[in-house]
Amino acid sequence: MSFANIYGHTKQISMLQKAMAQKRVGHSYIFSGLSAIGKKTLALEFAQAQNCENAALRQDACGQCPSCRKTTHGSHPDIHVLQAQTQFIRIDDVRGIQDQMTFRPLEGGKRVFIIDEADKMNEPAANALLKTLEEPSADNILILVTARPFRLPQTILSRCRHLRFNPLAAGDVARFLTEQKRMEPAHASALASLSGGSIGRALELDAEDMIAFRAGLSGLLRDAGRRDPMSLIVLASFLGQDKKHTQQGLSILHTYFRDALVYRETARASMLLNADDLPVVESLAGRLEGDDLLHNIAVVEKSRQSLDMNANKSLTLDAMAFKLHL
Ligand SMILES: [Zn+2]
Repeated sequence: MSFANIYGHTKQISMLQKAMAQKRVGHSYIFSGLSAIGKKTLALEFAQAQNCENAALRQDACGQCPSCRKTTHGSHPDIHVLQAQTQFIRIDDVRGIQDQMTFRPLEGGKRVFIIDEADKMNEPAANALLKTLEEPSADNILILVTARPFRLPQTILSRCRHLRFNPLAAGDVARFLTEQKRMEPAHASALASLSGGSIGRALELDAEDMIAFRAGLSGLLRDAGRRDPMSLIVLASFLGQDKKHTQQGLSILHTYFRDALVYRETARASMLLNADDLPVVESLAGRLEGDDLLHNIAVVEKSRQSLDMNANKSLTLDAMAFKLHL
């Protein structure tokens, strides 16, 4: 592996490589962003590069040296991934890290601890980790990976370098699906556009079913407007037609409003999640202001949360449709 194997996230990669080149790698990082977009993969890649015997020249892992091979096989003694075994990451898990930190790295490079789903630390664990962050040591790097950075205490957030990861561009998700999963290009690009920029979500989707569903939703969205209340009711009932599709439908709506915002700013189709459905994105971008689009995203997310908490489905969706600025 090397950074070249990472899909997307070029800005974050170049920040890390720059820190390596300047020998100013931090002691503690937070990698935050949507789940299943490659944050942990990049953290491992960074750990590999920190320990690679040939990394000095190009700030990247060679993938060939003994150290790189151990990392690839998950057997490098100085690279550790901590994952919650239960609902929480507990103080004993953090103490395990602290015990190891008292020794020098076994192979003379940097010891890297990656804490996956770091927001699962309970309070005692977070307090214990804070002590480590307050007394950093030169040999150790901590990387907290999370999709919910807002659940981490401010005291931890403020002591880490925070790298925020964007959803992947649809093109990157499609490339992953064709290169790694050998999917047909047409299927891959349709699924990618529905994935919300998450490889994990793309892999969960049933391609043909979702393509048909999105096409239906996109048509209704294009035609919906406040001057025609019936169009809003139809949109709501389409979203509510069956349980499986409701949450996915709200995700898709979110991506269209997000795309319209991006398109208003950049006028570049390559940045869009729904790049293959440009006319609808263009139409939204043309008739709505940025504030309307932000309002719509908030309205969709609020409905999603209400439904998560078992609110009445048709009432929630009807109310949402009438609150949207369309
Ligand atoms: Zn190497």
